[in-house]
Amino acid sequence: MKLRPGYFAFPIIALVIHPLLTFGGDIKKKEEAVASIEKHKAELISLSDQIWGFAETALRETRSSKVLADYAEKQGFEVKRGVAGMPTAFVASYGQGRPIIGILGEYDALPGISQKAQPVKEALEAGSAGHGCGHNLFGAASLGAAVAIKELIAGGKLKGTIRFYGTPAEEAIGGKIYMARAGLFKDLDVCMAWHPEDKIRADVDSSQAIVDFIVEFKGKAAHAAADPWNGRSAVAALEFFTTGLNRMREFVKPTVRMHYVIQKGGDVPNVVPEYAKVWCWLRDSKRTGVEELLSRARKIAEGAALMAGVESKLTVQGGDYEMLANLTGAKLIHANMTWLGPIQYTAEEQEFAKAIQRATDVEPKGLNGAVQPLEPPKKDPEGGSTDVGDVSWIVPTLHLSVTTAPEGAPWHAWPVVACGGMSIGHKGLAYAAKALATTMVDLFEDEKTREAIQAEFKEKSKGEVYKPYVPDGPPPIPKN
Ligand SMILES: [Zn+2]
Repeated sequence: MKLRPGYFAFPIIALVIHPLLTFGGDIKKKEEAVASIEKHKAELISLSDQIWGFAETALRETRSSKVLADYAEKQGFEVKRGVAGMPTAFVASYGQGRPIIGILGEYDALPGISQKAQPVKEALEAGSAGHGCGHNLFGAASLGAAVAIKELIAGGKLKGTIRFYGTPAEEAIGGKIYMARAGLFKDLDVCMAWHPEDKIRADVDSSQAIVDFIVEFKGKAAHAAADPWNGRSAVAALEFFTTGLNRMREFVKPTVRMHYVIQKGGDVPNVVPEYAKVWCWLRDSKRTGVEELLSRARKIAEGAALMAGVESKLTVQGGDYEMLANLTGAKLIHANMTWLGPIQYTAEEQEFAKAIQRATDVEPKGLNGAVQPLEPPKKDPEGGSTDVGDVSWIVPTLHLSVTTAPEGAPWHAWPVVACGGMSIGHKGLAYAAKALATTMVDLFEDEKTREAIQAEFKEKSKGEVYKPYVPDGPPPIPKN
């Protein structure tokens, strides 16, 4: 399949068609939403800090999902736990009728990056996991925004349904993809999400589409010296495969990223290896590009097996769509963030950030608490993928980023863990909750804006049939 050349033309038109969305909404209701978040701030920070301390990795987020689901229940939400075949996935709803606005929350940690909440690299518990992507803040802030909207609905000030999605395993199998396949997002009018970052902005850029697969080779064992002619090496096939993939690098678009790890490559040199396994991730700006890479990789695997005289098997394990950005929604978020203003940091917080920047060889600029101007989307996204991308092809999804870490500091690494467990992260949490809640006030109240967001979504997703990259059945749940 080819890329659709008109893809990027629409957003520019959209900006022209809907210059409309000047900041309106009901300021009083927004002030109430902000006040609600202030009122619950200590509890939200406590939720985040607990999840930060649990630091549970993908599909093991038992305690993390429980504290969030319990809190939602205590706030009067109806909670369904263990949805889409995942014990740590849940949906919390409040209200009735339309519009139905969804909000996503994550809470999985990353293995091996345990860190104390201090500006010097030192594990809290050596070898353990840590929140290097700030998902402890992500889950708690989104739930805080949902609670603020719930209070407005309960007070008769907004009409409709607010639905919080507890989405596990973003860093691994992509829990949202399984939830999407189960149809959990399909009746939403609009969905919201945010992510911790080193800047505050309404997101207009996409993310990379990705496919995650393994290739296994099966040969015949033999004595490597006595009767090698009776053997067929699975590792030889694996080497042909990686050679093919690496040669392919020269003939792909500059937007492509290919990475793999060898998971099984024989046991001892004097046995012709019978089995070999390689785990690959292929990415490009769009799903169509990834589909093409996958079909080329299939042929390379078959060719490699043919050359080595062995069998091959390619198994797709998962993958994300690219984010379908919504510029009408981004304008709405930007207007609300501008109304909220910047995050103010203390001198101590700036010094904490600069110490991290010096320790990681990054320019010591400190924290950036300013709301970034709304810019036109880049032609291609930066490196990285998210399962929010899948949701964005089912329902219009509005996404924002909020500062929770020093500018330029390495991500998925100790600086993010450190800041996520102290006041820098807490300020980001509260700000994200407010930006999400005030934007949702508009989404509930302003039908015209909602329709404009949906019209942009329909135009951009026209002709696409959502097909998740997931194997049949529920995801494999690791045993604790
Ligand atoms: Zn993340």
